[in-house]
Amino acid sequence: MNRQVIDHRGHEFARLGREVLEGCRTVFKTSDPVIIFPSSGTGAWEAAIVNTLSPGDKVLMVETGHFATLWRQMAARWGIDVDFVPGDWRHGADPATIEAKLAEDKGRAIKAVMVVHNETSTGVTSRIAELRKAIDNVSHPALLMVDTISSLGSVDYRHEEWAVDVTVSCSQKGLMLPPGLGFNAISKKALAASKTNKMPRSYWDWEEMLKPNVSGFFPYTPATNLLYGLREALAMLLEEGLEAVFARHQRLAEAARAAVRGWGLEVLCLESAEYSPVLTAVLMPPGHDADHFRKVVLDNYNMSLGSGLSKLAGKVFRIGHLGECNELTLMAALTGVEMGLSSAGVPHRSGGVGAAMEVLEGRGATNSWSPLKMAVS
Ligand code: PLP
Repeated sequence: MNRQVIDHRGHEFARLGREVLEGCRTVFKTSDPVIIFPSSGTGAWEAAIVNTLSPGDKVLMVETGHFATLWRQMAARWGIDVDFVPGDWRHGADPATIEAKLAEDKGRAIKAVMVVHNETSTGVTSRIAELRKAIDNVSHPALLMVDTISSLGSVDYRHEEWAVDVTVSCSQKGLMLPPGLGFNAISKKALAASKTNKMPRSYWDWEEMLKPNVSGFFPYTPATNLLYGLREALAMLLEEGLEAVFARHQRLAEAARAAVRGWGLEVLCLESAEYSPVLTAVLMPPGHDADHFRKVVLDNYNMSLGSGLSKLAGKVFRIGHLGECNELTLMAALTGVEMGLSSAGVPHRSGGVGAAMEVLEGRGATNSWSPLKMAVS
C-alpha cells in the first residue's frame, strides 16, 4: 500500500478496480455486485439502510450484543420502526424466534431481517443458513441483511447460496487491512428495493456506484492505497484457499477455548454451535475487573486485549484470533494472558497454555482436524 497514488481516472486504475470488484465476489461467494465505499463498517451499515428501506418501515433485529444494538440505534435514527428481539449477549439470533415473529406478521409489514453474523462484542456467531431457512419456512418476503464485519474472510459465509440481500462488511478484520473500506454485496431483490424505497441519499447511493464500477471506476475519489492492499489481501486468502482459512480459524479458536477452560475460566458464548472462530470473549471471575487485568497485561507484556463493550465493560476481555494469525501468534497471546492472570492476581489454574497446545498438536479431546504431519527423510 505504500506506493504512489495513481490517476483514478486512468487505465491502470480501471484494471485495479475491476480486479478488486471481481475478487470481492469470490470472498463474499456471490455473482451479485459488491460495492466498495471509502468508509468504516458503520458507513456500510448506513448504505444498506438508506438504499433499501423507507422511513416508517418495520424491521426485525436481534439483540446479540453491542454492535447489533448500535445498528438498531442507527436504523431508529433513520425513522425505521425496529422490533428488537431481546437477547442475553451470550447467544446468537435464534432461527425459531425469527420464524415465529415472521409467521405472526400476516400483513407482511416486516420489510427486513437484520442480523450481525459475528458479534465482535461477545464472540458469538449467528447461524445465517438457519435464519435463511426460518424465513423461507414461512415464505416471508422480508429482505435479509447481514453484518459480516468481523466474519468475512474468516468464517464460512455464502451471500448467494444463503440468499442474503445485503451483506455489509469492511476492511479491518478478516481482510487484514487498515480501516477505510466498507462493502455492500447486493442481491437483485435488494437492488429492486433500491429503485422504489424513499430515503434520501447521495454519497451512499448504490446506483451512482454501480454505473462507473462496470468499467472499474468510482464516482468519487477512491481509497486507492487501500485498494492496492485489498488486491493483495484477496490474493492471500485465495492462495491459502478460503476453506483452509476457515479451518485455520476454527482450529485456533478451539485452542483458545481449551486455554480458557484450562484456566478454569468461562467462555462468554453459551452455545457450542455459535462459538466464534474469530475471537473468544472470556468472563472474569466475580470481584475482578477485566479492564484492570487488561492494563496489567498491556503494561507488563505490551499486549492489547479487547475490552468488554457497553454492558460487558469490566466483565469480559476478548482474545482476537483472526486474519493473519497462526499457531505461534495465538500461543504468544495465550501465554501473555496466562502470565497476566498471575501478575494481576486473578484466581485461575495454570495449564491453559498447555491445553491449547494439546489441541494444536492434535492431542486435545475435542479437535476435529488433522494435524500437519512432519516429513521425515
Ligand atoms: N459491526 C461489527 C460486528 C463490528 O465488529 C464493528 C466494529 O468493530 C462494527 C459493526 C462497526 O464498524 P466500524 O467501527 O468500522 O464502523
